[in-house]
Amino acid sequence: MKKSLYAVLSLMVVVLLSAFFLPEHAGEQTEKRFFGALPSLFYMENGGEEAPENDGITLDVYLTEEGKLRSIPLEEYTAGVVAAETPMNYHAEALNAQAVAARSYALYKSKWYSGEGCLSHPEADVCSSPGCCQGYVPPDDDIYKNAIKAAKDTENLIVTFRNHPIRALYHACSGGHTENAENVFSEALAYLRGVPSPGEEGHLRYENSVKMHISELEEAFLGDENIIFLMDYPVSEQIEILSQSDTGRVMDVRIGLTKISGTEFRQKLNLDSTNFLMEFNDEEAIVTFLTKGYGHGVGLSQAGAQAMALEGKTFEEILSYYYSGVSVQSADAIIEKEVVSKA
Ligand SMILES: [Zn+2]
Repeated sequence: MKKSLYAVLSLMVVVLLSAFFLPEHAGEQTEKRFFGALPSLFYMENGGEEAPENDGITLDVYLTEEGKLRSIPLEEYTAGVVAAETPMNYHAEALNAQAVAARSYALYKSKWYSGEGCLSHPEADVCSSPGCCQGYVPPDDDIYKNAIKAAKDTENLIVTFRNHPIRALYHACSGGHTENAENVFSEALAYLRGVPSPGEEGHLRYENSVKMHISELEEAFLGDENIIFLMDYPVSEQIEILSQSDTGRVMDVRIGLTKISGTEFRQKLNLDSTNFLMEFNDEEAIVTFLTKGYGHGVGLSQAGAQAMALEGKTFEEILSYYYSGVSVQSADAIIEKEVVSKA
């Protein structure tokens, strides 16, 4: 105990002294490397756990459930995302592809690469909410050993486009075809183009049907003052699909007098995907949603990656298939280039 207290105090002295020798206008990269040493201290104070190795990139991760910001070494973070986001019984090459995608997405968001960070928690590079950034669980349990292996086997590798980490979006199951980014989100990205995604039929959510009472549907939109239902008209006549993409995903829906995006409609009703059809039964006041796929459908399909892996494809082949015109390379190599070009 005394020994660890001594180690903590010595480290604090070193950290404080270093501050005086930092250049007055230290660049972002310098600041990140400097503050990267601090979380190890908190680690030792809060329970005496072994501090993780920290000789590379660290990310400031906002842990949503704990409500805490923690600095996590990139490789530990990558394993934790694979653990949280992927079925652990997937093929090793599918998990490897997921690890590289998770690492790329985090670095794309991070301040290391001039990213904007987490939109909900500006002090963080990413948060652990799957709806905002990426899910994360500490990968310290034996059940996550495949996730740790995937991070190790792909150490430091990221997907790049024009030498920059990509916004490596991914989802559970595309329903047979992935989607162009602009049909789901507002921006079009050259590497996020829809491609056929065969072999997903075995996924549990490849097709799904959800029955909902009309009152539930109305309730979902009650709090939204922008949505105006028409008086005295049945709901079945007030909800209409206005436009769909080539892959069948709903892009715009009319509700009463209002037009909303398919993505917003999906979120409000918690549907599996925007690839849906509606069947109304006015007599029973029931609507049935028939959905295809699970998730937003953009970028890498995990179910499709699994199908490719079972066919003998490597993680590089999987990544190059789902992200158009990209390269797979070491994160370190590009960081050095960016630092040099900023100097
Ligand atoms: Zn976030």
